[in-house]
Amino acid sequence: MTQARTALVVEDEPEIAELVMFHLQREGVEVTTTRSGRRALELARQNPPDLLVLDLMLPDLDGLEVCRRLKEHDETKPIPVVMLTARGSEADIVAGIEMGADDYVTKPFSPKVLMARLQNAIRRRTPTQSQQSDSVLIRLDGALVLDRERHVVSASGAAISLTITEFEMLFLLAKRPGFVRTRDQIIAAVHGPLTVLSQRTIDVHVTAIRRKLGRCGGAIETVRGVGYRFAEEVRA
Ligand code: CA
Repeated sequence: MTQARTALVVEDEPEIAELVMFHLQREGVEVTTTRSGRRALELARQNPPDLLVLDLMLPDLDGLEVCRRLKEHDETKPIPVVMLTARGSEADIVAGIEMGADDYVTKPFSPKVLMARLQNAIRRRTPTQSQQSDSVLIRLDGALVLDRERHVVSASGAAISLTITEFEMLFLLAKRPGFVRTRDQIIAAVHGPLTVLSQRTIDVHVTAIRRKLGRCGGAIETVRGVGYRFAEEVRA
């Protein structure tokens, strides 16, 4: 039997905490809840959960600060963090993702959306460093193949010519499907001494990549107000 999965729910509104706990428990996840950001950090360090559900507005320590501190320590860094945010708080979402959160759910949420996001986050638990090797060959349902070492991309078997910047952007998104990247994260990951990127040029590059990918172009999804992500399923 596989070991039960565990989740830590950090939320000061009891009704929401209970709702999240109820749905996770129904899926067989062992849940601990706390309303305190400080307590959450202690619990996560003592016994790192497989998932951390984090409200941003907490009575003691701001959720963004909790996230930042989690990502500072090796033992808590790999824990997937899903933020709970108020609808329309795009600045918070961007800040949280740049702080290392993996995903977010906006309140009020439907149980179906909540569970889909949480299950994805558990499944996509941050790969270890060896799995994040830079010479990855990414195959997505055979539709799209990226070979970082050779800088080769093919879609449905046909070779595609991308610039180095375009390739690096596509690779950054494709290596972790389903994870949103903000424009600033893309700039930080892709820029080099010969590449100067602005938020606006990111959008221009994305348009170019989508066009070159043809029928696979929809694999790069726009997350309005936040950034871009690579689709979890690619259809040619
Ligand atoms: Ca709150």
